[in-house]
Amino acid sequence: MTLTTHILGYPRIGAKRELKFAEESYWKGEITQAEFLAKAQALEASNWQAQIDAGLSLVTVGDFVFYDSILTHAVRLGVIPARFKEAEKLNQVDQQFYLARGRAPHCTDVAALEMTKWFDTNYHYLVPELNSAQQFKADFSDLLAQVDRAKALNQPLKVVLPGLVSFLYLSRIVDANTAEAEKHACECGNDHADISADQANLKFVDALLPIYAALFDELKARGVEYVQVDEPALVLDLAPEWQAAFEQVYHLLQRHDCLKLIVASYFETLGANLNLAVNLPVAGLHIDITREKVGEFFWKKVIDQLPTHKILSLGLINGRSVWASDLVALNDIVQTAQKSLGERLWLATGCSLLHVPVDLRSETIPAEVDGKLAFARQKLEELVALANGHIYANEKLSKAVDAPFDLVAQSRQAPFEIRFKAQQEKLKLPLIPTTTIGSFPQTAEIRAARAAWNNGNLTNDAYEAAMKKEIAYAIQQQEELGLDVLVHGEAERTDMVEYFAGLLDGFWLSKFGWVQSYGSRCVRPPIIVGDITRPNAMTVKWIEYANTLSDKIVKGMLTGPVTILNWSFPPAHRTRREVCLQLAEAIRQEVSDLQDAGVEIIQIDEAAFREGLPLRKADQAEYWDWAVKSFKHCSSSARVDTQIHTHMCYSDFKDCLPQITAMDADVITIETSRSGLQLLDVFHEQGYPNAVGPGVYDIHSPRTPTSDNMRTVIDGALKTIPAERLWVNPDCGLKTRGWAETKIALATLVKMAKEVRKELQAA
Ligand code: GLN
Ligand code: ZN
Repeated sequence: MTLTTHILGYPRIGAKRELKFAEESYWKGEITQAEFLAKAQALEASNWQAQIDAGLSLVTVGDFVFYDSILTHAVRLGVIPARFKEAEKLNQVDQQFYLARGRAPHCTDVAALEMTKWFDTNYHYLVPELNSAQQFKADFSDLLAQVDRAKALNQPLKVVLPGLVSFLYLSRIVDANTAEAEKHACECGNDHADISADQANLKFVDALLPIYAALFDELKARGVEYVQVDEPALVLDLAPEWQAAFEQVYHLLQRHDCLKLIVASYFETLGANLNLAVNLPVAGLHIDITREKVGEFFWKKVIDQLPTHKILSLGLINGRSVWASDLVALNDIVQTAQKSLGERLWLATGCSLLHVPVDLRSETIPAEVDGKLAFARQKLEELVALANGHIYANEKLSKAVDAPFDLVAQSRQAPFEIRFKAQQEKLKLPLIPTTTIGSFPQTAEIRAARAAWNNGNLTNDAYEAAMKKEIAYAIQQQEELGLDVLVHGEAERTDMVEYFAGLLDGFWLSKFGWVQSYGSRCVRPPIIVGDITRPNAMTVKWIEYANTLSDKIVKGMLTGPVTILNWSFPPAHRTRREVCLQLAEAIRQEVSDLQDAGVEIIQIDEAAFREGLPLRKADQAEYWDWAVKSFKHCSSSARVDTQIHTHMCYSDFKDCLPQITAMDADVITIETSRSGLQLLDVFHEQGYPNAVGPGVYDIHSPRTPTSDNMRTVIDGALKTIPAERLWVNPDCGLKTRGWAETKIALATLVKMAKEVRKELQAA
């Protein structure tokens, strides 16, 4: 007997990022919509073909969208915020792009939908905006057309859709009373900062129920047998109201015909929602067993409690890891599960394969990991091998866990007050010093030089000379602008994580390992393949060079261990904690070398410090513990008078200020210009003892802020942070901006800082 196999979704970008390029040329007007759709449908067809070729029992339909599934669903439900009134004249293809980008042909530019992280992945979804009088206007004809195309394959199909409850959970009511919303959030302990879950959203259940029911009828009429309803909210710590909503919704959507609903949970076990989930009146349940803790066997509890007529789709191939599965171990699970479930057992990937690169076959794989990796395409084969019982022991997958790595984490040698004094005496900076976050514009010339160097068309020396020229230019510009603490500009770095991954031992950089981050934007996370060590200094020569060009202080610029880890694929057999500590040790050595080379200020960026936070409250303390420990370890080699800066990008610090305080950086620069000054209120209310540099220039916007804009942020900050502990800087790095706008904005920034400084000194 062969078990049913299926996946929760497949990467849509294409092995060579075809969707990205098609979208971008469509946006630029280089191809027509019909041409764009033809390219997209070719990809959709090849995704289906990959599933058929691999021999999966069901072909998954509906996961192929252009930008983001939640966005597509919102548009199909008619959830189009009022500011996009011109969307009326667009079809759904352009409507999606309009909402996502704030821009569409013959329409006025408006602010795009907000984007936020999809659970604990590095994928971003677009947050649907509901208004309190929201009317829904469903039009699923694009989805139905997709189903019709898939039907032509003559294969058993499964259609996937965002579930009603999770859709509302992930949406936001824009005109709701925010104070009220916040009150709810803390009462129910439901403050996953990135995911909105206002109970007020539940009032839309009634309006959406008939829409879902009608859609199910349409699918049934087309001969569809299975619908996978994605309900990832089921793995979160849910307030009772949300749990009740699950019961109510699935009770009312119950089918008595042969359309079978499979409710899919993923990214965690069901936790406290186990009982709720197994008893939903649907045909089947999907669970992700790849995130279970060692020895937890949560899946056994699910099997024990699952009513005996239901399908259990067991997600055992990890949809978030790039490593090959241990089929022998998984086969044991399959055997056990099959004894209880028989044919009711389905085999699946834990989550959608959206989060892994497409195909290993285009890579040149280094010997040390040969045979150990599996990207999306290879995971299909693993799944089918498991179902067919074609189990082979992969000798290359060492089960022997490497000796556990730990270290005695160090702290700074003196408390902040003492360091602060020593630094003031040494650095002699003016009141409210000005600085930037690190990168200056990555111009076409920089990228061309790097491409030429990578292709062997530029010698090492010539490349180094080209980068030095860029550094010299950046230093000269900063001198002219009158900034107080300079940076070298990061011209030599493609990316703040990839650069370090390329220089540390223990990483492999794939060539085509692209993963969608949002829309057409893809990232290529480095893959951690072994113990991480630092064979040589990584940044010293560049910073030293920059230092020779100016009498001012040039900051050394590093990426912190937590950020490197969170933006990489972790190794197969080590805990994230261990990897992070190894990274911390490598960065600590770099801090030492920079300091020995005379660098007086060193910034350790932790842009993604909060991103690896586990979804469930109960698991969070452990994460914070090693994340903070790792950061402190890096900075522990700094002398008392060496100033350590850190930088973080995101704007919601409410739930992690104690941890940020515990990191004990001398100065933290943060994003504030977009989030307004509420952010600083958090620093004020909870009391932050060290120095802070609020961002006064929103670098995400091409619009350069006025001096008034900047002045407002500085004045607001001064109400919270004493002038001696205040810095002035942009929100983030300037890599994506052009030089012209950068110069204008920074000139204003320096001017405003000087003005305020003068006023303070006069007072
Ligand atoms: N130093 C980095 C830069 O300026 C920081 C980037 C980030 O926070 N994302 O580019
Ligand atoms: Zn940033």
